Amino acid sequence: MSRIEIIINKCTGCGVCIKSCPYGAITLVDSPHTLESGRTVKQVAVIDLNKCTYCGACVEACRYKAILLQKEEVYYDFKDYKNIWIYAEQRRSEIAPVVFELIAKGKELAEKLNCKVCSVLLGNKIKSLANELIYYGSDVVYVVDDPVLEEFLDEPYAEVLAWLIKEEKPEILLMGATNIGRSFASRVAAKVRTGLTADCTGLDVDLETRNLLQTRPAFGGNIMATILTPKHRPQMATVRHKVFKALPKDTTRRGEIIEKHFDFSKVKIRTKFLEFIKDTTAKVNLAEADIIVSGGRGLGGPEGFKLLEELADLLGGAVGASRAAVDAGWIPYSHQVGQTGRTVAPKLYIACGISGQIQHLVGMSSSEVIVAINKDPEAPMMKIATYSIEGDLYEIVPEIIKAVKAYKGIN
Ligand SMILES: Cc1cc2nc3c(=O)[nH]c(=O)nc-3n(C[C@H](O)[C@H](O)[C@H](O)COP(=O)(O)OP(=O)(O)OC[C@H]3O[C@@H](n4cnc5c(N)ncnc54)[C@H](O)[C@@H]3O)c2cc1C
Repeated sequence: MSRIEIIINKCTGCGVCIKSCPYGAITLVDSPHTLESGRTVKQVAVIDLNKCTYCGACVEACRYKAILLQKEEVYYDFKDYKNIWIYAEQRRSEIAPVVFELIAKGKELAEKLNCKVCSVLLGNKIKSLANELIYYGSDVVYVVDDPVLEEFLDEPYAEVLAWLIKEEKPEILLMGATNIGRSFASRVAAKVRTGLTADCTGLDVDLETRNLLQTRPAFGGNIMATILTPKHRPQMATVRHKVFKALPKDTTRRGEIIEKHFDFSKVKIRTKFLEFIKDTTAKVNLAEADIIVSGGRGLGGPEGFKLLEELADLLGGAVGASRAAVDAGWIPYSHQVGQTGRTVAPKLYIACGISGQIQHLVGMSSSEVIVAINKDPEAPMMKIATYSIEGDLYEIVPEIIKAVKAYKGIN
């Protein structure tokens, strides 16, 4: 068992550890005592062991070295852990598209590991979505349907998923690197005390060790690192949308639906859902768009995006941007493509005045057709493009607009 204790003659009662504890497990109580230095203080920190996860955050925060933590080495019997789980993220009863992509990848890995691919569906009145997950490749769907799960809140969702993991022991758990997935996955990983690799762009398995090979860009995108979780189970990873391809929907597929019930009465929920406000600024969802017209620093200013918008509108596409254009304040962050923006995989990606640095390329290089428009023929984007057009975008883009209009019979 792990052990944690306050060394009373070192604790000054400063309270820094209280702020550092993500689980609200530390309080100060009145208890006058004398420190090693001879100084007398009035309060001492007390740790509630029912809430403490032995994460060590307080140990790092305490500059008086007044907290002693002895962590238990957790030994897993890997044989107890089986199957690949996909967290079936849904919002307002709409399953996130990345879920279907993860099921397809999970199925491929499950065939190699000779196990099942299972989805986990959490929410309120969402049971009817379970079949959809089976049609896209899940063998089993675990469902927790409860009014507490009506809106996504980290605390109850993390509690119930951590509980399910402890009960059923999956070998691998994959989640979408969505806004929800990113905050939620780390919380769950901490609760079940396992590792998490965020934003993977490649997944495979080592058949000998059954380790998940989790590949992601590292060091600012300059290298691809393959990360393992060799000593803990489940092995957890988040993956961005559009990295893998979903299987076609097959309504003849059959699978098992297992309903689970969780007692939420002891879960302390500190956050409150107030209102859902839909983003109406983007006309076409960037991540889903088949055509993206993207602009970079080469536009020279925000007005350049008006031109790109005109072309995108004509083509029924969305407008993307490089980080340089976003950082310059020419266009909102929601349009950014790349490592710290969105990953996209449209049928056509038109890059205007974007040099093609690695951090941009990781977000769009799986586009089917890439057209680069750049003054510099040596720019990396020009090298990877299907079609490279050398020249000034302010001459080339209006010509393309003219040609599309002529094709469509628009004056
Ligand atoms: C940790 C980290 C994360 C990052 N994440 C991202 C990310 O998510 N997305 C991203 O995009 N970047 C990201 N970056 C930044 C990235 O490294 C580049 O700085 C950025 O992509 C450059 O943007 P750009 O191509 O628009 O600008 P530049 O590199 O300056 O390129 C401008 C291009 O425009 C061309 N040009 C200029 N004028 C014209 C004209 N009139 N007509 C045609 N061509 C013209 C130039 O020849 C040049 O090739 C990240 C960087 C780091 C360190």
